[in-house]
Amino acid sequence: GDGSPPMPFPQPVKVQEIRHTKIFINNEWHTSLKGKTFQTFNPATGVQICEVEEADKADVDKAVKAARAACQRGSPWRRMDVSSRGRLLHKLADLMERDRALLASTTSSLLVNLTSVTSSCCCVVASPDDTFMCFTRHEPVGVCGAIIPWNFPLLMFMWKVAPALCCGNTVVIKPAEQTPLTALHVGSLIKEAGFPPGVVNIVPGFGPTAGAAIASHMGIDKVAFTGSTKVGQLIKEAAAKSNLKRVTLELGGKNPCIVFADSDLQLAVEETQKGAFFNQGQCCTAASRVFVEEQVYEEFVRHSVESAKTIVIGDPLDPRTSHGPQIDQKQFDKILELIDSGKKEGAKLECGGVAMEDTGLYIQPTVFSHVKDHMRIAKEEIFGPVQCIFRFKSQQEAIERANSTEYGLASAVFTRNLDRALSVSAALETGTVWVNCYNALHAQAPFGGYKMSGNGRELGEYALAEYSEVKAVTIKLTEAL
Ligand code: NAD
Repeated sequence: GDGSPPMPFPQPVKVQEIRHTKIFINNEWHTSLKGKTFQTFNPATGVQICEVEEADKADVDKAVKAARAACQRGSPWRRMDVSSRGRLLHKLADLMERDRALLASTTSSLLVNLTSVTSSCCCVVASPDDTFMCFTRHEPVGVCGAIIPWNFPLLMFMWKVAPALCCGNTVVIKPAEQTPLTALHVGSLIKEAGFPPGVVNIVPGFGPTAGAAIASHMGIDKVAFTGSTKVGQLIKEAAAKSNLKRVTLELGGKNPCIVFADSDLQLAVEETQKGAFFNQGQCCTAASRVFVEEQVYEEFVRHSVESAKTIVIGDPLDPRTSHGPQIDQKQFDKILELIDSGKKEGAKLECGGVAMEDTGLYIQPTVFSHVKDHMRIAKEEIFGPVQCIFRFKSQQEAIERANSTEYGLASAVFTRNLDRALSVSAALETGTVWVNCYNALHAQAPFGGYKMSGNGRELGEYALAEYSEVKAVTIKLTEAL
């Protein structure tokens, strides 16, 4: 870090005060044009938290109109210089830190990890020859649509909104129907920070209605989506059939880890297991396929099972808890069905494999060994707390099996041999490769998928390219000297 002492760990807010449940357009709170609302639930208890105004196509139209007006040339936002935009983003970051206990408790996750980047509109000069001078301008794309999932509601919100704003765009964002509340609270902070009206607009609602309206909107210039590969395909199709808006996609993963016999085995056990169970396995980067070299296979499995049994399952607002509920009944049922398929197809269930008996949507951390590549648990994204351990003999075989998937999001390699770490990293077909670590995400490093895990990159400088149009301005010199 920067040398300053770490911030004290925030105490969870026990009684949740929900302040914002309406549609956020032009820095104002709006009711749904159709007069509809939807319920939001606490997955730990099944109890309804509140009702939220439901945005549909007409509300999205209203939000796009506000966002278009806010990014017109000559508008306060377009005329604002880059440093002032940066100051506003930092003000927003300060406000999010101020409210971090509330935001974290609403997310039912105790970690708020806000990182914002600010960019300047840089000019690069190229001189094709002595008679022409050429420079580039990095301009905002315009109105950026964003559709985000429920697994990291606050983080996904900022991964989309921060680079969009820092490049001077305006935003219409739809949070997932399961998790609208943190986004709406940040809406209030955006207003408090002093962003001009219309710069960020938040439309809580469902995918096939509000989400589809964003993807096919003629007034939206770019759409950024995180979620399932199936919906990612729908987004790209809708973009192509409407106005060919720019599309970036962060989709699923079936992320391989390769553990060599020469690795620090305890470290490999800890990191791969954190990778498998972090956020109850509800991560696109979940370490869902762990390939272990045969000499250390049995030992690795034994340690992984011991480690899984020490995980503390409980109330997400209790700081001692490391494992909470799944998001909803649909995901809960899907995970248990996949666990069942693993048992039926002959994988060895080492521990877990069942739901907790009391109420709530809790599934025990589950470890399968002797998993084979053809099994459903080896191929499908489970999005639950299920670790699958495979055995391999040779490096070449491990790489081929790791790559034999339609996905290509993240991977990891565990070895003490630097040369091997680098050559295996080069061979893995994923947007991120972690060496002797897992889920080590940094705001400065690009993140995104190969193959059907997505298009484009988020974070770091690469993210800024996704939110800018580049214009080449070429000047003819009248006098070539
Ligand atoms: P999803 O893809 O259906 O939902 C993600 C977002 O897309 C939500 O905001 C949703 O409202 C919206 N959406 C849904 N249908 C849409 C449509 N037709 N047009 C526009 N937007 C639409 O994901 P899900 O149903 O919540 O979860 C299903 C599976 O997706 C999970 O089991 C998991 O495998 C995967 N998933 C991946 C991620 C990720 O981070 N990559 C996140 C959530 C879910």
